[in-house]
Amino acid sequence: VNGKHDKDKGVNVQVILRCRPLSEDEIRLHTPVVISCNEGRREVSAIQNIANKQIDRTFAFDKVFGPTSQQKDLYDSAIWPIVFEVLEGYNCTIFAYGQTGTGKTYTMEGGGRKKNGEFPSDAGVIPRAVKQIFEILEAQNAEYSMKVTHLELYNEEITDLLAPEECTKYVDDKSKKPIALMEDGKGGVLVRGLEEEIVSTANEIYKILEKGSAKRRTAETLLNKQSSRSHSIFSITIHIKECTPEGEEMIKCGKLNLVDLAGSENISRSGAREGRAREAGEINKSLLTLGRVINALVEHSGHIPYRDSKLTRLLRDSLGGKTKTCIIATISPSVHCLEETLSTLDYAHRAK
Ligand code: ADP
Ligand code: MG
Repeated sequence: VNGKHDKDKGVNVQVILRCRPLSEDEIRLHTPVVISCNEGRREVSAIQNIANKQIDRTFAFDKVFGPTSQQKDLYDSAIWPIVFEVLEGYNCTIFAYGQTGTGKTYTMEGGGRKKNGEFPSDAGVIPRAVKQIFEILEAQNAEYSMKVTHLELYNEEITDLLAPEECTKYVDDKSKKPIALMEDGKGGVLVRGLEEEIVSTANEIYKILEKGSAKRRTAETLLNKQSSRSHSIFSITIHIKECTPEGEEMIKCGKLNLVDLAGSENISRSGAREGRAREAGEINKSLLTLGRVINALVEHSGHIPYRDSKLTRLLRDSLGGKTKTCIIATISPSVHCLEETLSTLDYAHRAK
């Protein structure tokens, strides 16, 4: 069962929750666990019983994955149907949202590396989606073309992770390509100067992903920047040639955006909950605007504030309308993260 689905407007937002296991260090330190997941009831509870601070709250989601859930479980039950829709011509976006250290990158990319052609069991959503896309295209014997883009958004500035080294923002070089967002007049957005790579095999995409991740890591070290403050957007666009029963030729186009968002602590720590949303907005406009856009979409409000951040402008053609959106909210089970966990649960719950 998917989340809110309005056939007329086609709004379809699914929110799933994943709680990571305690780390080895946390186990060694006997860190108390304050989260319990009920996968069958699709509920998550946060419970703390100390003298002057009692917390007992339960949140429901479209799907819940507890600490022992495997990458394959999450993919097969929640993501597979969405990726299938991409090949049916939908624009779909999968977000990982949560505090730094709760498993956004683990969920999206995974920990595994391909060993002699074998698919690693801890491969995340992105490599699994790529694998599925090619499997379906091959099974359908489809005639298709595919291109990918990979960019990073940091302080409302775009960096192209596919650009040749000398062109990236990180290199202080006057010849670097400026990247600009422009409306295309048809409700979409063009990213001027963004590299698009044509791909025809899953391996080509895995290589591109690896290069992009390596570039992010290098840039972080060079600029001493917190990766927790940047969003990574990996997009795959697929055109499939089809013939109608009447023998007419048609092109079906679908797009999949895979987004590893900035750490959610960037909005809550700066006081968003005390109502100082303006200041928080300066710190991470895109994260706040995304929340507002998704709220507006699920509540069918007339005005969708896409234009208020680069993230939502970039994803405009994949949010709202005939699209599917999935938010994977990630949390830690530890007592030390409880405050952030509650704010993630609130944010994710509001998106439902
Ligand atoms: P984030 O991207 O949200 O900052 P990471 O994905 O880097 O967090 O995860 C932090 C650490 O926790 C990593 O060492 C990662 O391997 C581990 N981890 C996260 N989620 C899981 C999980 N579901 N199962 C096992 N290990 C996990
Ligand atoms: Mg990460």
